[in-house]
Amino acid sequence: MKTYKIAVIAGDGIGPDVINEGKKVLEAAASGFKLEWIDYPFSGAHYLKTGELITEQALEEMRKMNAIYLGAVGTPKLKPGVIEKGLLLKLRFFFDQYVNLRPVKLYEGVPCPLAGKTAKDIDFYVVRENTEDFYVGIGGNFHEGTKEEIAIQTGIVSYVGCERIMKYAFELAKSKGKKRVTAVDKANVLTNVYGLWRRVFNEVASNYKGIETEFALVDAVTQWFVRMPEHYQVVVTPNMFGDIITDLAAVIQGGMGVAPGANINPNGVSMFEPIHGSAPDIAGKGTANPIAAILAGKMMLETIGEQKTADKIEKAVETILKEGKIVPAEFKGKATTSEVGDAVKNKLEK
Ligand code: ATP
Repeated sequence: MKTYKIAVIAGDGIGPDVINEGKKVLEAAASGFKLEWIDYPFSGAHYLKTGELITEQALEEMRKMNAIYLGAVGTPKLKPGVIEKGLLLKLRFFFDQYVNLRPVKLYEGVPCPLAGKTAKDIDFYVVRENTEDFYVGIGGNFHEGTKEEIAIQTGIVSYVGCERIMKYAFELAKSKGKKRVTAVDKANVLTNVYGLWRRVFNEVASNYKGIETEFALVDAVTQWFVRMPEHYQVVVTPNMFGDIITDLAAVIQGGMGVAPGANINPNGVSMFEPIHGSAPDIAGKGTANPIAAILAGKMMLETIGEQKTADKIEKAVETILKEGKIVPAEFKGKATTSEVGDAVKNKLEK
């Protein structure tokens, strides 16, 4: 039987709890293929204990696997940036996962903080460029620790980088039957980098005649995601703005516990994760919502070519949320992390 090798980095805090539920559901859903999990210990806690973030050997092993499934990494005991740069960004850059794909879908039964908006109003994709902009690590400090200190950090945008992410966004729109692609930027102030971004967008768009296009400034987008989410279908955004607006998007789709994400290299190894962090405030309580991790697993199956099984998982999640019998603690219900996972597993169509 076909076997997919999946590298697993469960990580810190609620990461291991939600990943366990994801594994449980994916294993139960798999039909016609098997999943082999290869667990790695990398996390903030592992770094504090061993001084190791991620090893070259592990990266080389992962290169031969079908995908990476990640829970959450980070601990308040670490300075901000250590694990983000040393593990998460390292993986994204090493495997050139240039697409950060974030489906923003409000499922029926999930409470939405926007007055008057329902499941039919919120169903779009954010396609975030994942390898350029201000996240490339170009910069430095001078006179560090003194009052004379100066700091510089540079954002880069390249023609090739824009072209590949925009093509992905338009192809996604085509494959999902979406009719509009919105390009986000701040081209009225950062004219150099986002001027190039706009030029490439217009060029790529000219090859997709049937799809409507528009530009939107990032500040306006934060307003319109709240006022008129039904307007959006596919949104393509540079790295840093994408990081910010996808947290806003997670809230309008119901919360961090239902928001999955994928770091995709269409020709290489991709990584799938719930977008939430390790949530130290709820770690160890058994109340984390595993739906985001389960849906990230669903995206993983979709990407490796197991669409039928992926659809089956989404249907089970949809049914649980709609029925409202098992309500995650995140939505003021009583269900524990494993009760939510079990409920999804038991709803899978045979
Ligand atoms: P980071 O600082 O890396 O973003 P974090 O875990 O502190 O990580 P978020 O991921 O932004 O922060 O989550 C914010 C809060 O949302 C958490 O502190 C937690 O209370 C809640 N939360 C996040 N994920 C979940 C989840 N899966 N289930 C329930 N609540 C969650």
